[in-house]
Amino acid sequence: MTFASLGLIEPLLRALETLGYQTPTPVQAQAIPPVLEGRDLMAAAQTGTGKTAGFALPLLQRLTMEGPKVAANSVRALVLVPTRELAEQVHEAVAQYAEHLPLTTYAAYGGVSINPQMMKLRRGVDVLVATPGRLLDLYRQNAVKFSQLQTLILDEADRMLDLGFSEELRDIYAALPKRRQTLLFSATFSDAIRALAGQMLDNPLTIEVSPRNVAASSVKQWIVTVDKKRKSELFIHLLKKHRWGQVLVFAKTRVGVDQLVERLQGLSLNADGIHGDKPQATRQRALDRFKSGDVQILVATDVAARGLDIDDLPTVVNLDLPIVAEDYIHRIGRTGRAGQTGEAISLVCADEVDLLSAIEMLTRQTLQRREEPDFIPEHRVPATDATGQVLKKPKKPKKPKTSGGGGKRNLGKWVDSGEAAAEVPSIKPVRKVPVFNTGPRKRKP
Ligand code: AMP
Repeated sequence: MTFASLGLIEPLLRALETLGYQTPTPVQAQAIPPVLEGRDLMAAAQTGTGKTAGFALPLLQRLTMEGPKVAANSVRALVLVPTRELAEQVHEAVAQYAEHLPLTTYAAYGGVSINPQMMKLRRGVDVLVATPGRLLDLYRQNAVKFSQLQTLILDEADRMLDLGFSEELRDIYAALPKRRQTLLFSATFSDAIRALAGQMLDNPLTIEVSPRNVAASSVKQWIVTVDKKRKSELFIHLLKKHRWGQVLVFAKTRVGVDQLVERLQGLSLNADGIHGDKPQATRQRALDRFKSGDVQILVATDVAARGLDIDDLPTVVNLDLPIVAEDYIHRIGRTGRAGQTGEAISLVCADEVDLLSAIEMLTRQTLQRREEPDFIPEHRVPATDATGQVLKKPKKPKKPKTSGGGGKRNLGKWVDSGEAAAEVPSIKPVRKVPVFNTGPRKRKP
């Protein structure tokens, strides 16, 4: 199959040739024809599948072929994304595809001054890529109008809900023309996403390019169990042992990011970190240096790493498991992109056993465990499997009480150390379930 056979126009084909795309990916092959026809679409496509071109190419073609010229302060297509980095990345892709078309594109997101964005929007833009919070600010200050809006795209919709954007999405939805094309892309389809789709989409075509919630098969995944306090040490050991080249490391907290970066830099390793506390310019610089290969190890929190698109990233390491199991899929989606193979290694401590179990259930696989002889944990991680069971060690029978009972007792002495280790706190992944209550959507005539 070729891009030409999907009905794309010559200026787009020329741009794709420059980029070296020869064959449409499955999501592109399935999405481009119906989107060109103007249909609504609900697509289960994880990152790395080529989904951006899947929606951007037919979108740009429709904007070129149909509709009026963009008016002042107006937008003709809106792409909503969860993070600034993804906004930059999607905008960069859209601008490349639109190179030979008479269309304007722009990215607007928070964390930077709003004034230049307001100035830029004055003349109107054909395709605006935006994060929900900043878009609402711009809308409320009359910097952007939606009366000309033809197409709305929700990219990584699950992530937008995870990040708590449901209220912003509801407010944006209320401000949009009811007659429009809507495309929703999401790596995972929770009930909340289905509810969102039910509200926003009109008789959508559903496409699924990888089995629901199953992580990219081109990524080799394994875990190493370790005591919590030795995770950084284990990471450094694995880095040297496997001679990892570029590696993206995910940590749970901003403090965790800073601590690991400091430790790596202390060993003269080429590392940098990104998290939400750092100014946007610093984050972007770290990201650009990682992408260009100037930085070998990038340590990041989930939010900061969302928009990373790096060719051939071979290794992703989870220093900590994500609290929300779906994030595991997003994280490991950073490797094994566009047909490459990759490795995703998680360092798991006993506290994280419930998180591990949730990931195995979601991805429907039991992650292979590999032991590092010098790092065998004192607090063993109980066995888990894809059914969601945490297989705790059977309890030893209690010693019979000595006569009299009563008095102070050290509970510790009634439990052997292996059993104590199995008593991990129960951490349940938390998901916010947004409520959409904006009334029924008017059908297209
Ligand atoms: P995405 O899933 O949209 O983030 O895209 C993942 C990566 O695949 C990006 O680096 C794209 O530039 C690349 N890509 C998308 N479509 C194709 C294609 N048809 N051929 C080759 N590379 C592609």
